[in-house]
Amino acid sequence: MASYFDEHGCEPTGETGPELNTLLRWARILINDVRQYAESEGLELPPDIRKAPPASKECIANLKETRVSTDREEKCPVCLLPYRVGDVTKTLPCVHEYHQTCILPWLDKTNSCPMCRHELPTDDEDYEEYRKHKARAKQRQFETESLHDAMYS
Ligand SMILES: [Zn+2]
Ligand SMILES: [Zn+2]
Repeated sequence: MASYFDEHGCEPTGETGPELNTLLRWARILINDVRQYAESEGLELPPDIRKAPPASKECIANLKETRVSTDREEKCPVCLLPYRVGDVTKTLPCVHEYHQTCILPWLDKTNSCPMCRHELPTDDEDYEEYRKHKARAKQRQFETESLHDAMYS
């Protein structure tokens, strides 16, 4: 599967330089290869590598919607066109804003912000369970490190 940005022949703008974009593209290609291989071999992939599910319908429905009333200088990170009067934008919880027509197809495929990877809730129970598990593991690691710091500093 080609990524959204590849399909549209553009790259997200942001703090990432050209080298990083190239690396990210290779990483995506490799991960897609691994997925295809695993599928053809019937292997179970860890959820990290498994394709992230789409954002939940409820979450998408509740995104902040703005109708642009005056032309703006800022550009939509997906299509790289500035926001014009009459455009409808959606703002994600991470406050990144996109044209509605640009971000909705993306969120229909995956649950993270194309700019910062902030994850939105999904309707996929398995994935949500895995995320909770990951958050708990992180919390435990944090507690262990704090305890370690408290004991040795
Ligand atoms: Zn756009
Ligand atoms: Zn974001």
